[in-house]
Amino acid sequence: MRNTRSTYRVVALAIIMVTILVSGSSTAEDLRCDYCGKVITEQYVQDGDKCYHESCYREHVLPRCAVCGKPIEGRYTVYDGKPYHDSCWKRNVALRCAVCGQIIEGDHLIDNWGNHYHSRHQDELPACSFCGRLICMRVTGGGRAYDDRHHICNLCREYAVTDTYIARRLLDESCDRLKKVGIEVDCDEVNFQLVSAEELAQLSGSGLADNFGLAHYEYETMLGITVNRKFTVYIRSGMPQMHFISTAAHELMHVWMYQNGKDKVDPPLLEGSCNYAALLVLQQYDDDLTAYVIDCLERDPCPVYGDGFRRVATFVAEQGKAAWLEYLKDHRFFPAGR
Ligand SMILES: [Zn+2]
Ligand SMILES: [Zn+2]
Ligand SMILES: [Zn+2]
Ligand SMILES: [Zn+2]
Ligand SMILES: [Zn+2]
Repeated sequence: MRNTRSTYRVVALAIIMVTILVSGSSTAEDLRCDYCGKVITEQYVQDGDKCYHESCYREHVLPRCAVCGKPIEGRYTVYDGKPYHDSCWKRNVALRCAVCGQIIEGDHLIDNWGNHYHSRHQDELPACSFCGRLICMRVTGGGRAYDDRHHICNLCREYAVTDTYIARRLLDESCDRLKKVGIEVDCDEVNFQLVSAEELAQLSGSGLADNFGLAHYEYETMLGITVNRKFTVYIRSGMPQMHFISTAAHELMHVWMYQNGKDKVDPPLLEGSCNYAALLVLQQYDDDLTAYVIDCLERDPCPVYGDGFRRVATFVAEQGKAAWLEYLKDHRFFPAGR
């Protein structure tokens, strides 16, 4: 959601002075219409220092409403260089708030979907955690609260992943997409569970609203050799498909790190890399919601996930994807000064 301003509503006043002239008088011979150039002998209109036949003025000089095409007298509204009757402008052109339907003037908010809102609604309504829209009947057809921080709108709920079979299929799809960008995770080796917010909070030892996914690694060692390793990815139920795929890519990158990287990697490098892996998967889709999810990754203000992601993105931009993956195999921290 960003702030914007509708600056277009200029109200102007047309100055119309009608003067009655007594016809037949010889002084009228000198008076000529500023539109048609013919002599004015009857009632005429004076606008500033110009004079017109009444019909010339009405038909050719008065501004015409860009909606109804009829001449405008008196007060009118100019928008985008075009004049409108106030009533035509209000009915057909004026910017209206997507939440309350009233006309918006001046500072207001616009979301990623082109909805304009009065700024005050941001404090009155919850925003969808997955698309950023303000949740209300007019905009999203309603929605529901998932926990103390997360809400889902009814537009996103239509795509919510709540079925384990579909979830596993999406996890495998995410895994295939990672493979396409050179991040090979053996997904047959990965157990998967679709879990509730409560279960995920318990497993990760964090708050109810803190996580959408978790990658768990268990192993035993025998004579210094790792045996019986087991990877489990947990993903929270109820996210829209594209968020699910993004979360799956993030958690599968954790698995890749367990399989290829070092232990105890510094959180910004670790989480930033996992979010970058999610980006590489998301970039293989082309739709508006994916663009929004990417935007959220890129703009995440978190010093671990957001800054980490941006530092990885800079690393990859300078040295390439292969160099980044190689780097992860041997390092726990970002290069000095990066
Ligand atoms: Zn005329
Ligand atoms: Zn009109
Ligand atoms: Zn409003
Ligand atoms: Zn939504
Ligand atoms: Zn993570």
